[in-house]
Amino acid sequence: MNPQGAPKGSPYFPAEGNPPPPGFHAPPPPYSPGPSGQGPIGVTVVSTVVAPPLGPDSSRVVCPSCRATVSTRVDQETTTKTHLMCLIMCVFGLWPCCVIPYLMDSCKNTNHYCPSCGAFLGTYKR
Ligand SMILES: [Zn+2]
Repeated sequence: MNPQGAPKGSPYFPAEGNPPPPGFHAPPPPYSPGPSGQGPIGVTVVSTVVAPPLGPDSSRVVCPSCRATVSTRVDQETTTKTHLMCLIMCVFGLWPCCVIPYLMDSCKNTNHYCPSCGAFLGTYKR
């Protein structure tokens, strides 16, 4: 109960050098490989998940979302390239043909979706 205002020049307590607690010495692991050599202990398991290459058509992949092996549902998507080809055809006076890129699947990206859960699985870019 000190009716003081702002504590001007509050006493500064020098930090006492707290010594760190004594190091915790972990006990050695109970498992010790015998000197007879049972083979390599640390077998490096290479479990690199390589996404299968998605082609322009439906492919069988394992859905990372629902873990089911599914045939992907493909969805064609127009890209900048599609619009660009249309523009180029218009520039060269081939404007009647400018709809062709929109009709050609080869000018579009193919999006793959999981038919089971609808997860997006990847895009095949042309
Ligand atoms: Zn799925």
